[in-house]
Formats: sequence, C-alpha cells, structure tokens
Amino acid sequence: MHFPSNHSDLHSIPVQFVKGIGPKKSALLEKAGIRTVEDLLLHIPRRYIDRTTVLSIARLREETLASAQGPGPGGGDTGGTEPRREFTVIGEVRSFRVLGFGAKSRFLLVLADRTGTLQCVWFGGVQYWKKMFRIGETLAVSGEPAMYGAMLQFVHPDIDRIAVPEEGENGAAPTQWVDALNTGGLVPMYPSGEELARAGLDSGGFRRVIAGAWKTYGGLFPEILPRTITDARGLVSAHAALESVHRPASTTELREGLRRLKYEELFRFQIKLAMKRRGLREKPGGIAFTVKSPLARALVDSLPFTLTRAQVKVIQEITADMASPNAMNRLLQGDVGSGKTVVALIAMLIAADNGYQSVFMAPTELLAEQHFKTLRRLLGDSPVNIRLLVGAQKSALRRDLLDDIRGGTARIIVGTHALFEKEVAFARLGFVVIDEQHRFGVMQRATLRSKGANPDVLVMTATPIPRTLSLTLYGDLDVSVIDELPRDRKPVTTVLKSDEEMASVASFVREQVRAGRQAYYVYPLIEESEKLDLKAATVHFARLQQEVFPDLRLGLIHGRLTGEERDAVMELFTRGEIDILVATTVIEVGIDVSNATVMVIENAERFGLSQLHQLRGRVGRGSDRSFCILVAKRWIAGRVARAASRGTALAAGEQLLAERRLAAMVATTDGFRIAETDLQLRGPGDFFGTRQSGIPEFKIADILADAVLLDEARADALAIVGSDPHLGRTEHRPLLSYLRSRYHDEMKLIDVG
Ligand code: ADP
Ligand code: MG
Repeated sequence: MHFPSNHSDLHSIPVQFVKGIGPKKSALLEKAGIRTVEDLLLHIPRRYIDRTTVLSIARLREETLASAQGPGPGGGDTGGTEPRREFTVIGEVRSFRVLGFGAKSRFLLVLADRTGTLQCVWFGGVQYWKKMFRIGETLAVSGEPAMYGAMLQFVHPDIDRIAVPEEGENGAAPTQWVDALNTGGLVPMYPSGEELARAGLDSGGFRRVIAGAWKTYGGLFPEILPRTITDARGLVSAHAALESVHRPASTTELREGLRRLKYEELFRFQIKLAMKRRGLREKPGGIAFTVKSPLARALVDSLPFTLTRAQVKVIQEITADMASPNAMNRLLQGDVGSGKTVVALIAMLIAADNGYQSVFMAPTELLAEQHFKTLRRLLGDSPVNIRLLVGAQKSALRRDLLDDIRGGTARIIVGTHALFEKEVAFARLGFVVIDEQHRFGVMQRATLRSKGANPDVLVMTATPIPRTLSLTLYGDLDVSVIDELPRDRKPVTTVLKSDEEMASVASFVREQVRAGRQAYYVYPLIEESEKLDLKAATVHFARLQQEVFPDLRLGLIHGRLTGEERDAVMELFTRGEIDILVATTVIEVGIDVSNATVMVIENAERFGLSQLHQLRGRVGRGSDRSFCILVAKRWIAGRVARAASRGTALAAGEQLLAERRLAAMVATTDGFRIAETDLQLRGPGDFFGTRQSGIPEFKIADILADAVLLDEARADALAIVGSDPHLGRTEHRPLLSYLRSRYHDEMKLIDVG
C-alpha cells in the first residue's frame, strides 16, 4: 500500500487505500459520494441497536398486552407529544406472502425467535416488499407493536437486515452472528444501498471497513475548530467524537460525539457563508442613493390605502441599506397578500429619482406580465417609464426595447430569465428585485449583478421561510419580514370536503355568486404531459358549465393558452364578467382579483402544502369574507376529520402525508406555520422542489432538529470572521487550510487572504 508521501490529509487519500476496499467497492462507494478516507470516516450510523431495548418475542408480547390494558397511548390528551415507545425484536424470517388484491393488497411477514412468532404488515408497496426478504434471514424489526387478535403485530416497522457472516466462516448461522451483538452495548447501523449491500457493504460490511480505516487513519483526522470554540461550546475533540460515534461506549458519549460532529458540519457551512458575506461587504463601490424621493412620495400619497406598520418598517430597513455605500443584499419575506410589491416599487422609484434603472425579475412570463400590470396600475399616471421584457416579443418591439434599456430611458424593466441574455445591456442598472428567489440559481444572481455597477439587490419571497432555513439558505443576506397583513383582511375560512359532497359545494358557490362574488375551481396537473392535462381541464370545464352551472358564466384558463388568450380571460374575470374561473395551477401566484371569495381545490390531496397555501392566497384579498374549499377523496377527508375531532395528530408514514397537508391547511392560515409544517413533512432537500435552490444537504445535522446548534455555529462563524477576516491568526490556521483544500475555487472568488 502506498499513499502520496507527506500526505496526512485524509481528504486526499482515496477510499481505495482502506483495507478491504478494492476497485469494485470503491467505485460503488464513489457513486454514493464516499471518495476519500475522510468521507468514509464521516459515514455516520443511521442509528444504533441498543441491546437493552431488544426483547424476545415472548417478552414483547407480555409488554404489549400489559400496555393495552393500561392507560396506554391515546388514553390521555397528550396525543402526539409523547415520545413513541419503540421496541426491537431480532428474529428469523419464517414466511411471507401477499394478501388481497390491487389497492387493498398487503404484505405479511412472519418472524420467529426461540420464544415465539410475530407478524409484520405493510399496506401497499407489496411488489417492493416481495423482493426484499429471504426465508431464513435474520432481521432486526423495530417499531410500536400492537395486538391484532391473538397475534403480536408490527405495522410498517423499521427493518434492519442483520448482516450474514463473511463467507469462509464455516457457514456460521445468523443467530451466532446476532449473539455477537452482545459484546457491544450500542451497535452502529450504517446506511447502505442495494448495490453496496450486494458488494458486501451492508451495514455490517461498513462496520468492518470503517473499524479498519479508523485504526489506520483515525489519528490523522483534523481538528479544525479553534480551542476558543470547543471550550465555549463544551464540544469534545473531533477525534473523540468520531471514536464515540463509530464505537459508542455509552449513550451519553454517543450524544456528545454526535453533537460535536453536527456542530462541525454546520460550522463548516456557516464559515463559508460568513467568508462570502464578508467578501460581498468589503467589495467597494456600492451605490449610496439619496433616499428622499419625490416619485416615491407621490406614489405613497396616491395609494388607495395606507401602508401597514410592517410595510413601513421594512421600507425603513431597505432605504437604510440603499443610503449606505455598501451594496445591499436583502431578503424580503412576507406571506401571500402582505403587500411586498408596493414595497419593491417604492425602492425602485428611489433608484429612478437617483438616475438609476431597476430590474424586477419574475420566475415565469405569466408572472412577469402580471407584475408588470400591477406595477403599472400602482404607478397610475406617474411619469416613470416602465417596460416589460419577455422572451416571446416580436423582434421590432424587442429591438426598440433593448435600445431603451441601453439608452437609459427605460427606468423599470420587468422580465424573466430573458434579462440575463447577453444582448441585454443596461445604461445604469442600480437596483434589482428578484421575486420568488428560490427558483433562481445563485449563478443567475451573480450574472445579473455583473450587468450593473454592483446594484442593490432585494430578493422577495412569497413562501415564508422558516427562520432556521432562511439563516442557512440566505446566510449571506440580511432579512426583512412583513409580519402583518393589511387590516381589512379577514382570514380565509378553510374547510375540507369529500368528493361525494360536490353538490353541496356547488350550491355554496352558487350562493356566493348570487351575492355578487366570484369563484375559482382549480384542478391539479394530473399528468406529466401537457396535452393530457389540457384535456383534463377542458373536460372538467365542460362538465361544470353544462351540468353544474349551466346558468352561470364560466371561464377556463390553463398552461397552453397563449399570452393573449390568457389575458382576455383574465380581463373578463377581473371585470366581473366571468363568475367562475376554472383553472389548472397557472393561477398559483400573482393573480389578484379581490372580488373572488371562493377557492375550490379539487383533488386537493395531490397538491403540495405551499402550493395549497399559495392558491388559498388568491382569495381573501378584499374585505369580504372568503372561503377555501379543499375537496379530497372520501377516505382522506374522513380520516382528517376524525383525527381533528379527537384532537390527535395523524400517524406518520409516507401515505399519510397528504392527510397531514390537508389537516395543516384547515388548522391554520399562518404562512409561517404552514412553511414549518411543509418543511417537516418534506424535509429540507425537497422543500423548494429543485436542486438549484442551493439548500445544502447536511449528512449528520438536521436543520430543523438542530436549530440551536445552527444558531451557535452561525454566531461563532460570524465572530471569527469579524475578528480575523482573513483567518490569519495561528489558532485559525487549521481552519484556513481546511477551507483552502476543500473549497479552492470558491475561496478564490471570495479572496481568502
Ligand atoms: P404579496 O406580493 O405580498 O403577495 P401584493 O403586493 O400582491 O402582496 O399585495 C396584495 C394586495 O394587497 C394588492 O392588491 C395590493 O395592492 C394590496 N395592498 C398592499 N398593501 C396594502 C395595504 N397596506 N393595505 C391594503 N391593501 C394593500
Ligand atoms: Mg405578489
């Protein structure tokens, strides 16, 4: 074995150098993101099997019978808040089979140990489970047991395949291997995958190679945290932390080890953000605007409403940034309907009064058009030249537009990605508004920035971002929050109906229309294909118009209409000449018709939570009482209603996510609570749907559960960069060399000293 001489950096030693890892395994590991020895040592167990909680089947049966007679779970009113009682049983697979057909089918597995047998049941996914098991293999099954008649049963338990012995150990029976668990109190269970497991790297395989790697290389694991931090935060050393995570001697030690590793992971991320933030700050040549602005004053005086206290507060925060010579990087958060657009417009008018151009960037053309109209309406007869730049414009118009942008006569330019194109050159770009930031990549932000002389940037998001997440995502931005809705808003009454109650929903809608109001009927994108989706929308529309509301005026809007067709329909709806607008999700954001008071969402179980919240935000925009009617399959609606009446939380599980989304919608109209729930249900990686959201994937830490650590890591990172901006001090050397070796390119961008 050889590795580059003088090299003690685990980050540059390929994982193949570890004993027991050949080319085949290392290729598979690489696919799983484990390339170096450091990666391998940071492959942290998913959980541990605690021998003390492993019961024999007979004992577990006794426990379960006893707790069924006692007050038991659900007996008090603490439903959902108490930690779940989990038990583990280790046994051999005796048999398995599929029962029932189609949607009703379930998978049944019988597990046995020396003391008895029990059943594991999975509803749905039978094709998957059928391939998962082999007769005679040994499993550790964990969960909450229950009695099903006389049978002890786990419903959807967690399964760990206990590794079979290495070949050549003269066919030792799995039970013997299991006995080996007795030697350690806590046995690490490593995450693996089908391919990895087949190549010998199941949980047990990982246990072996990591133990080997630790023996050879453990002593070289770097300590990047300065003593000041480990002392102040009471953190164990990196070396001790890894030792106790891979081979915990006690739960206390394990907890401390994990805490340290989580902290370090969060700190590594936060220190990068802090360096970046410093880089942005130090960059000279931002614009110092004069914030006294006749145009903005005239706008505020012309508004048909007075600004809310929250709007005034964020305007002050923004104008303070604008007045400073440093470039602004600010995130403006506010729930749907909180009035972010006016705030952005005021800032853009200040820029205009200073002789600068502004850009207002939306994620889609529809939204760009919508914003353009809204802004123009708000501007009234103000002399400011506002223009719309989208991809689909005719070339003559476009040339004219580009001239005006280059010449500087266009003062506010609303657009989409088209604004990034090379041919778009600005005379004097000074202010950038980005709506719905999470749909833009970080790169795009940088491109746009490069088109101006370091313009001020205001990022707006209609999706309220939980604080923990915004600190992580936007650690390089300052944050302003509009935490108040205009006074005349009444919360939207939200109800859940089953699809069998459509007739009563329809008569409610009819009543509202009779009273002079308007309504939306929204259908989900049922198929990936736009064609089929169009068909679905058309069919629904025809049915509603002919069978349900023959006497009312219905309009249809969907993703395949041209801009003009869409405008024509929207125009009619805005003028009140359409009573009911039937739509696919294209109306999700940006539509603003305050006379519309009913939002009916069909197949609501198919929508994401923040999507539902955005849709609900289309009503309740005026002073009339508004309603959001979620229509779901009967069984889903029924279960949510029963859970609500019992005051208990719904059970966890993939198939129940839809119910939890709907329950959250009925329970609250608070966008921040919705967002928190959404984040919990979906997990941070998926929260914004796309990769380009830039959300880092933490392997060890959980930004929800470890919010306190995240705050600490952020504060520490900011303090270090504040007092030693170029990490020149001796105690920061290990950190600096760590950053240099890992983030060479990024570090160049933010010029580490
Ligand atoms: P957001 O973009 O935050 O969802 P908008 O800026 O679209 O919200 O505002 C929603 C509606 O409320 C618009 O019709 C807007 O003109 C109106 N509005 C904004 N601020 C106020 C206010 N202070 N009082 C009453 N209505 C307001
Ligand atoms: Mg808006």
